[in-house]
Amino acid sequence: MSRSLRCVCEAHTPLFPKELSPGLPALGCDTCRGDLLSLDDYRRWLDRFPQEALPSTELPAQVDPVSTTATPVRKCPGCAQLMERLLSGSSTDFRLDRCGPCQWLWMDAGEWDALVAIDAARQLLDRLSDGGQRGLREIAAHQRREAELRARHGDAIVDELIRLRAWLAEQPNPDILLTLLRNGW
Ligand SMILES: [Zn+2]
Ligand SMILES: [Zn+2]
Repeated sequence: MSRSLRCVCEAHTPLFPKELSPGLPALGCDTCRGDLLSLDDYRRWLDRFPQEALPSTELPAQVDPVSTTATPVRKCPGCAQLMERLLSGSSTDFRLDRCGPCQWLWMDAGEWDALVAIDAARQLLDRLSDGGQRGLREIAAHQRREAELRARHGDAIVDELIRLRAWLAEQPNPDILLTLLRNGW
């Protein structure tokens, strides 16, 4: 990343070289505090520091799920194409923007620290893959359905259902047990 690039935020601030984590170079914006990460640099960093444990950080307060998901689609600072907006996790509320042709990833202020805090900073390639995104969407949909059930029926009932389902799954004849449960004997 030798070219001088400008951020696509309103100030068009020149991006400056920084380290996201020890040994991981990136470009940062002094105005919006976002980070541009080359996925090639990221892959090299994973290879060079395979066992490196990142110091855990507190979940940063500045990751605002509402504003970060509501921001319009971002343009790549390199090629000006629209970036793909990808899920960052099943329990995280912010998205990551990727330019496929440039292999760059944009993270808004605090998002890298948030990924480190939930121990996901080394799993980005998995999460950003098609299969990873599909899995995250499924988990998120499951969590939404469970939240709806909890709102409708209350925590005690949903917790009991979860316990029963787990117990049923371990039984050799779950269908017979379900029939007995429904019809008695
Ligand atoms: Zn900026
Ligand atoms: Zn690009």
